[in-house]
Amino acid sequence: MASNRSGGTGPRRPLDEYRRKRDFTKSPEPAGRNTKARRPTRPARFFCVQKHLASHLHYDLRLEHNGVLLSWAVPKGPSLDPSIKRFAAQVEDHPVEYGSFEGVIPEGYGAGIVMLWDSGTWTPESPDVDAALAKGDLKFTLDGYKLKGSWVLVRTRGYGRRGEKPTGPSWLLIKHRDEWSGDLDITEFAPLSVKSGEDFPAIMAAQDPALWLTNRPAAGGATGAMLRKIIEEAAELKLAELEKSQTPARGRRARKSTS
Ligand code: MN
Repeated sequence: MASNRSGGTGPRRPLDEYRRKRDFTKSPEPAGRNTKARRPTRPARFFCVQKHLASHLHYDLRLEHNGVLLSWAVPKGPSLDPSIKRFAAQVEDHPVEYGSFEGVIPEGYGAGIVMLWDSGTWTPESPDVDAALAKGDLKFTLDGYKLKGSWVLVRTRGYGRRGEKPTGPSWLLIKHRDEWSGDLDITEFAPLSVKSGEDFPAIMAAQDPALWLTNRPAAGGATGAMLRKIIEEAAELKLAELEKSQTPARGRRARKSTS
């Protein structure tokens, strides 16, 4: 049973933990409204996977349920191979509006870059989602751009950890064998955003450069190296854009003289 971790005495609301972790004056992420739960009889619900380069690269799987997005952080991302079980740490519920978010979180919780890697609808394979979650065995069908067919989330005995802190119950994300399973490495094969069609450097370059030049998240090791490379590539993209915008006349003249 989830406790009221916001510290208040009132009833725990679904997005308390999400909001407690963030400062919305400093983050472009949506604060979210406490929306009424949608009719549970509606069969297809929203789902998305956000590729998130924060302290470590991971993929956040989010399934709409009772007016929020149930969320799992999957460090290695989903696998289409039914013999591969992917560790998935359940994290705090996110607002439904978060499902379209893509951009740079300049500082604070989750600082880094978020890409909308996949989105679509999901359908539970048994009617009572709360019972399936309580049992720790949620079977569902995905209809996204990249992920399709039957999947299962199975809760294990352990807890996910960030350093010393437990982050939430740990689960395994597994693809069921069907026409959509196979040994294609989907994260390698389809690495780009389904929202912008872009990669991390272009998503970063689309933001105000001041945001990330002054507030880039400090990260060491492999993540730090990845982030430095992305920042360099984003800066090059920005520069190329600037040069293009300053020299349109020369391009037109050159074309004219050859005709
Ligand atoms: Mn994340």
